[in-house]
Amino acid sequence: MNMEKTAEVYSEIAKVIAAHESFIIMSHVRPDGDAIGSQLALGFSLKAMGKTVYLVNEDGVPESLEFMKGSEVVTQPPSEPVDADVAIAVDTATKPRLGENSLVAAGKAKVWINIDHHISNPCYGDVNLIDGTKPATGQILYELIKALEMPIPEETRDAIYVAVSTDTGSFQYGSTTAETYEMGADLIRQGLDVGKINADTYDNHPYRRLELMRALLNTLDISADGQLAHWELLHQTQVDLKLQPDDSEGLIDLIRGVRGVRVAVFFEELDGGKIRVSMRSKDKGVNVCEVALQFGGGGHALAAGIRMPGPMVEAKAKVLAALGESMAGGN
Ligand code: AMP
Ligand code: MN
Ligand code: MN
Repeated sequence: MNMEKTAEVYSEIAKVIAAHESFIIMSHVRPDGDAIGSQLALGFSLKAMGKTVYLVNEDGVPESLEFMKGSEVVTQPPSEPVDADVAIAVDTATKPRLGENSLVAAGKAKVWINIDHHISNPCYGDVNLIDGTKPATGQILYELIKALEMPIPEETRDAIYVAVSTDTGSFQYGSTTAETYEMGADLIRQGLDVGKINADTYDNHPYRRLELMRALLNTLDISADGQLAHWELLHQTQVDLKLQPDDSEGLIDLIRGVRGVRVAVFFEELDGGKIRVSMRSKDKGVNVCEVALQFGGGGHALAAGIRMPGPMVEAKAKVLAALGESMAGGN
C-alpha cells in the first residue's frame, strides 16, 4: 500500500472510530502472539478512549499467552451477538478463520474493519488496512495508533511488542525492518521491561512441550536431497501427552533451521480428523503461500498454513507432492 492510500485508510478508520461507541475485536482461530497481541493492543487503546470494547477469540487465550497484561478480558464468543456497532478483524487472512461462533457474536456490527499483513487477504472488510510488507499485524497497529494519536496504555505497549516479537522470531526474520527496531526502542522508552517480557514469552514452557518435541523427532523425515523436512503429530499423541494446541507453537523452526533444508512442514491431526499443515520456506524461490492456496489455506510467502481433510497419509502425500513440484520449478 502506498503512503497516500495508507493515509486515506487511516482517515476512514479514524472516522469510524469517532462515529461509534462499541466495538468487537476478533482474530483467527488457534491464535498466536500476533493475533492475541493485536486484539489487546487495539482493544486497550480504544478502551482508553472511553469506548466499549468486546475482545473475543473463537479459541480463547492459549495458556502460553496468559501472561499478557489484560489477556483475561479476551473471552470465547458468547452464543448471542454482542452490542457492538463495529467489528474489527486483526491478523486474520480470511473471514471464516475468525470462527463460526465469533461471526455470530459480531452479528450486530454495521461496519467491518479488516487489519492484516497476510498477502492472501481478500479484503473482506468495509475498510481494509492490509499491508503484506509488515512483519506483524502488531506493527501495522502501532503505526495506526501513532498516526491517529490514540492512547498507548501499558497493555497496548506490551501487546504490540509480543505481537511483533513472536511473528518475527524475536526480530530475526527478513521481514524485520528499521521501523520494527525503532518501534521496539519507542516501546522500551515508554517503560516496556524487555527482559521480563522475553522471559515470559520464550522461557516459560510447560515440560510437556519437550515431551512433544521428543514425539515429533521420532517422526522426523527428510527428502533424499535433504531439502524438504517434515514431521507429524497424531491426535492420539496429543491425548497421551495431554497437549494444549499451542504447545507446538514455533517447534517447526527446529527443522527449518537444519542446514540444506529449504522447506519445513508440520502435519497435525486435529480432533475430528482434519489435518492442519504448517509450512516454512527458507528460499524466496519457494512461495509456500501459493502451495497453501492450492488447498484452500493461505498466509505469507515464507510461512503459510492449511486446514484440509484427512486422513493423514493422503494429506501428507498431496502437500509433499505439491511442495516437491514448487521446489523443482523454483517458482
Ligand atoms: P502457522 O503455520 O499456523 O504458524 O501459520 C503460518 C501463517 O499462515 C500464519 O500467518 C497464519 O495466519 C497463516 N495461516 C495458517 N493457516 C492458515 C489457513 N488455514 N488459512 C489462511 N492462512 C493460514
Ligand atoms: Mn497470526
Ligand atoms: Mn501475524
